[in-house]
Amino acid sequence: MIWNQKIECMSRDEMRDLQSKRLVALVKYVYDRVPFYKKKMQDMGIEPGDIRSIDDITKLPFTTKQDLRDNYPYGLQAASADDIVRVHASSGTTGNPTIVGYTRKDLDVWAECVSRCLTAANMSNKDTFSVSYGYGLFTGGLGLHYGVENIGAAVVPTSTGNTEKHLRLMRDLKITGTAATPSYLLYLAETMDKLGIKKEELSLKSAVCGAEPWTEEMRQEIQQRLGLKMFNIYGLSEVVGPGVSYECDNQNGSHICEDHYFPEIIHPNTLQPLPVGQQGEMVFTTLTKEGMPVLRYRTRDICSLMEGACSCGRTSIRMSSIMGRSDDMLIIRGINVFPSQIESVILSLPEFEPRYMIVVDRVNNLDTIQVQVEVRKEFYTTETVGELTLKKKLASKLQSVIAIKADVKIMAPGSIDRYQGKSVRVIDNRPIKNKFAQ
Ligand code: ADP
Ligand code: ZN
Repeated sequence: MIWNQKIECMSRDEMRDLQSKRLVALVKYVYDRVPFYKKKMQDMGIEPGDIRSIDDITKLPFTTKQDLRDNYPYGLQAASADDIVRVHASSGTTGNPTIVGYTRKDLDVWAECVSRCLTAANMSNKDTFSVSYGYGLFTGGLGLHYGVENIGAAVVPTSTGNTEKHLRLMRDLKITGTAATPSYLLYLAETMDKLGIKKEELSLKSAVCGAEPWTEEMRQEIQQRLGLKMFNIYGLSEVVGPGVSYECDNQNGSHICEDHYFPEIIHPNTLQPLPVGQQGEMVFTTLTKEGMPVLRYRTRDICSLMEGACSCGRTSIRMSSIMGRSDDMLIIRGINVFPSQIESVILSLPEFEPRYMIVVDRVNNLDTIQVQVEVRKEFYTTETVGELTLKKKLASKLQSVIAIKADVKIMAPGSIDRYQGKSVRVIDNRPIKNKFAQ
């Protein structure tokens, strides 16, 4: 099923026309209402009249998280305070939160985009759907909530925490879908094991997952343990929240709601646009937002764009899964390493749980990396020889993938912290952290 056939299956030319029309209007809107954008454009010597179609987007200035922080709290808001009906804040994974105000129309557009996602995840008014994202300032909870109501499904606002109660509700209410972080779904699976609840006792069909990067291996593990299909949902509060893009049944890239959020991929250092298919930093322009629209917002998320028709019938451009944030990328002894590469290796070996922590340090001017990882119960041993074999196995596979020798530390089952929201998997103790230039 497709929620909005007209838009989701629009011809490429029609989509470009729509985007052009919307970009022209947006640029006038922010120029007139947001002094920050007016000044930036004036500094670059451009006026709204210079933007005639979507192809002119590269003439516009970028917006960064720092710009939002410098203009805290409402400096980039375009709508008048009277028209703002809700305020969210980003979760502040990488610093101070940023504040985003929404008008009523913004909330409607958001619910529309989440509806497209839920429909692509095979949910309809016949379903009962729990939202296990946190409710509150974080956009996950309320964002999904109104989408579920909009498609006419019954929403069960469980939020995070109280997993045993959630499981009981899943069983008793025959909940068919849930929205959660992949970490939370793993935690759910572990709690089921602990309580002796079998996946067959539940009616789960679909999970809509996002808020943190996850690997294909993690998907396979969770799908198998919970007996459901996992669909990616991507978004960020500066753009709108979850619903910027979503996966269809093909699980091959996420369809972008490009009538509202125009994507570009740039090189994070040179800031030059990269061709479709090449990996770089995702940049979004909100084409229809009223509250706090952004021009060319640098997400710092690393991924690529995928063109070409999808067999689901949707024509929208897709984005690959997020490899990580440019600020997650570790540079260890000059080599670029994403935590997701380490996760893929761990999950490709049957002996290990998808539970790990990466500790980076600098000893005698040399970067060190330690991978702490839990061993599955049936493989766990405190015997030196057995432990050494496990260590060697993981270390050599890691070296073949990331080209760095990592120290592997074997951890007892259940000993690494569990996260129900976004997880923390890297501790960087180096005095000067090598990061991608911001
Ligand atoms: P914060 O930047 O404070 O974490 P948000 O709560 O808005 O702010 O989180 C948005 C970020 O979460 C995205 O920029 C991205 O890094 C991550 N994210 C969201 N959805 C996904 C997803 N489906 N896959 C990978 N990462 C995601
Ligand atoms: Zn598709």
